[in-house]
Amino acid sequence: MTTLFNSYYIENTLEFNADKCVNCGVCVIVCPHAVFAENGGVVSVSKKSACMECGACMKNCPVDAIKVDAGVGCASAMIYAAIYGGEPTCGCDSEGNQAGCC
Ligand code: SF4
Ligand code: SF4
Repeated sequence: MTTLFNSYYIENTLEFNADKCVNCGVCVIVCPHAVFAENGGVVSVSKKSACMECGACMKNCPVDAIKVDAGVGCASAMIYAAIYGGEPTCGCDSEGNQAGCC
């Protein structure tokens, strides 16, 4: 059963390429859900299910080591979908115009 404010998003699109990662730690800093962790100078995904697909890590990674379908998990979109029905969408169009929340 899906609730409005799930703490965990079991299914998400986050992909981490450890071969590309240079362990700069930026994703550890910018992720609002502490999905990434640094241990002994090595960054890894520690809580993939906590990813809300905000895209901050992907936008800030200097070597494109992270891929995520950003936007579909944002809080605004989920709230809108819960109230009005349908799939969550942020309203940003395919041409990158910022009509919505991101
Ligand atoms: S998309 Fe957002 S919530 Fe998910 S890992 Fe990246 S920064 Fe964290
Ligand atoms: S921002 Fe990119 S390069 Fe830096 S630690 Fe995270 S995944 Fe690795």
